[in-house]
Amino acid sequence: MTRRAGIIGYPVGHSLSPVFQQAAFAHSGLDVVYERWETPLPDLPARVAALRAPDVLGANVTVPHKEHVIPLLDEVGGLAARAGAVNTIVNRDGRLFGFNTDGPGFVAALRQEAFFEPGGRAFLLLGAGGAARGIALALLEARAAAVDIWNRTPERAAVLARDLGAPARALADLPPLAGYDCLVNCTTVGMKGGPDPEGLPCPLDSAGSGLLVVDIVYAPRVTPLLRAAAARGLRTLGGLPMLIYQGALAFELWTGLPAPVDVMVRAAENELARREGAAR
Ligand code: NAP
Repeated sequence: MTRRAGIIGYPVGHSLSPVFQQAAFAHSGLDVVYERWETPLPDLPARVAALRAPDVLGANVTVPHKEHVIPLLDEVGGLAARAGAVNTIVNRDGRLFGFNTDGPGFVAALRQEAFFEPGGRAFLLLGAGGAARGIALALLEARAAAVDIWNRTPERAAVLARDLGAPARALADLPPLAGYDCLVNCTTVGMKGGPDPEGLPCPLDSAGSGLLVVDIVYAPRVTPLLRAAAARGLRTLGGLPMLIYQGALAFELWTGLPAPVDVMVRAAENELARREGAAR
């Protein structure tokens, strides 16, 4: 029986997940078709109910439904419950389990691609939206020494820091970067098609030479922040590895098999390069 998986969101036309998940299934010799399940909010209950069918492995969930799916599932535990957001649904014999692999995907990307162990390190997160929440939770779980959060709208940073508890804290003003081991842009600044595609989420003048600069924005692959950091000789990590590792963790939850990460990276990079070429 051909099985199915897919991505639920609105819109999902530009999602890279179908490209790299399909490559992973093909490489692993699995007869699975990964589909785009574009779902306006009123259709979400029926879409999620359809995941209980025996031929469905599960789904990825993206904007704007990561919170909305929670009451439609049978069990949501661990990080997903604490984040209040589900990005992966697994169908086990008609019961639906919700997980959040965004934060763990970020930590896996740090470890595997930047060789950076978050335990004991000081982080500055820019942004306080859904991505920042998942990342901050995973960093606390990985025993980061400090997770400072600055956001354009300070009230949102304050709410997030309060929800997280120590050692997370909200900063009203952008601090000097010298005291941090890692800066993470979790805002949409620098994102193609976003509100400020050419902008920098913060100046880098005060950065120490050991700072790792991470931008979770993955389109374009090299954002203005990553370009500025590289020009200063700082180490950088783009957003694509996080995207791949959250997908790899989802693949492993659906199949019980190790994800072919290299195959997934290659498929996603080729697709991004194709899109960047087509846009020129
Ligand atoms: P979100 O919940 O909508 O949050 C957006 C964040 O960006 C908020 O903190 C917002 O600040 C800030 N922001 C927006 N415009 C800004 C501006 N002009 N100047 C300063 N800050 C601004 O979005 P999200 O889901 O957290 O996603 C954030 C980014 O992460 C997106 O670019 C998304 O593509 C990327 N992302 C990447 C991955 C990955 O796997 N690599 C995964 C998830 C998300 P306010 O609160 O002040 O509005």
